Amino acid sequence: MTIREIIFEATQKLEEAGIPSARLDVEVLLAFLLRCDRLALIKNPDNTLSEKQSADFGRLIARRAGGEPAAYITGRKAFWSFALDVDPGVLIPRPDTEVIVEEALAVLRQESWSHPRILDVGTGSGAIALALACETPGASITATDISEAALETAKKNAAALKAEQIVFLRGNLFEPVDGRFDLIVSNPPYIGADEYQSLPPGVKNFEPEEALRAGQTGLEFYKKLIDQSYGHLAENGWLLLEIGARQKQEVCAIFEAHKNFYEHIAVRADYAGFPRVIKGRRR
Ligand code: SAM
Ligand code: GLN
Repeated sequence: MTIREIIFEATQKLEEAGIPSARLDVEVLLAFLLRCDRLALIKNPDNTLSEKQSADFGRLIARRAGGEPAAYITGRKAFWSFALDVDPGVLIPRPDTEVIVEEALAVLRQESWSHPRILDVGTGSGAIALALACETPGASITATDISEAALETAKKNAAALKAEQIVFLRGNLFEPVDGRFDLIVSNPPYIGADEYQSLPPGVKNFEPEEALRAGQTGLEFYKKLIDQSYGHLAENGWLLLEIGARQKQEVCAIFEAHKNFYEHIAVRADYAGFPRVIKGRRR
């Protein structure tokens, strides 16, 4: 079969299975199998696949049709200006999370600290910490996670990107952390109990529950992070939190309840227009 034919057929299969990004995923998986990039596929639609390649591709498509995310099948996910190793022990980094990176860089530019101390709580694959490390070579960065599996993947990613200024620590929220930081960032778990049940099967059945679930309401990490960050921020230090699309009011209310501790509270939207990042500066 030619590349054109196999892409057409596999896209139909994924569409029938209800996979939303069918065509893109087919191209990503075929490029992974053939060890080329997607552009090479588009440029050479008449190249043919061997029987073994077709059979191997059929197995990849069957996994995707069963809901397994393409990033777990290939073991890679593009984020910011690089690609990260991912596996079922870590959340697949989302494009929305690039907004907290942009906002953190804006704060760093505005404050122009010469050697900012940055903390990423719940680093997962290391996505946020690594993007900040790449863009801010003078920063010292601490990244934590409660999951040993996540930290191992994050450390591998840091080694591959030669991000030597990141220290990785395991533990519950601030428990493993000493000292104060100029900037604390976190994309914590924020899915409540009811919403968790209604997540798409590709998320619920494959991504780590520990990375997504936050108690009954989805707000439990915000209470703890806003409360406890105060004791770990340097004077005029900033706290930046990613939030779910419908959590703006609730998380703003938690900041409001701490208004003796934070000022300049502001919300930033993502590129779909949903509120996505809340920030506040330590008084
Ligand atoms: N920062 C990554 C990103 O944006 O792609 C991962 C975010 S994921 C939504 C939340 C992360 O927090 C997971 O890696 C999870 O293991 C970690 N986590 C969950 N509970 C935690 C806790 N009590 N203390 C520290 N990290 C925790
Ligand atoms: N954005 C993730 C989702 O699509 C949730 C990430 C989180 O809980 N921080 O489900």
